[in-house]
Amino acid sequence: MKLLEIADEKAFSSLILPDRSYVSYQLLFDLLNPSLVSVGRLGEIAFHAGSYVYTGSSRRYIRKRILRHLSRRKKLHWHIDYLLANPRVRMSGIVLSETSECELNRRTAGRIIVPRFGATDCREGCGSHLKFVGKISNESHPTRTNAISVRLS
Ligand SMILES: [Zn+2]
Repeated sequence: MKLLEIADEKAFSSLILPDRSYVSYQLLFDLLNPSLVSVGRLGEIAFHAGSYVYTGSSRRYIRKRILRHLSRRKKLHWHIDYLLANPRVRMSGIVLSETSECELNRRTAGRIIVPRFGATDCREGCGSHLKFVGKISNESHPTRTNAISVRLS
């Protein structure tokens, strides 16, 4: 496992990734305050303040996909776009993995608070590809650092 720290979108784009076949990724982020967010067709959802993990996949264009998630300038398309567009969200980490999206999601501890979130076409019964991890931990506390850690697993 490798840990790297980046400051922003630009830093991620210049990150040299080992030549491996990453097929899935996780976005680790904190929601600083409880928020009511309109998530496309899922409607208005009340999110607890705290840490979340979102698991997604992109077989061929994983770097581009991550860059899109990090960018604030985009058309809102996926469920996660609506949540990340909230100004109270702070990205804290990115995981790139060779494990399939659903398996990675299942191995991740956390509570489902929004059924079907990011899982509209999930065939493995995950229930949701967004998990609520709990209170914001000290390591990821937004006042400490703005860095995003990148973990390759
Ligand atoms: Zn799934």
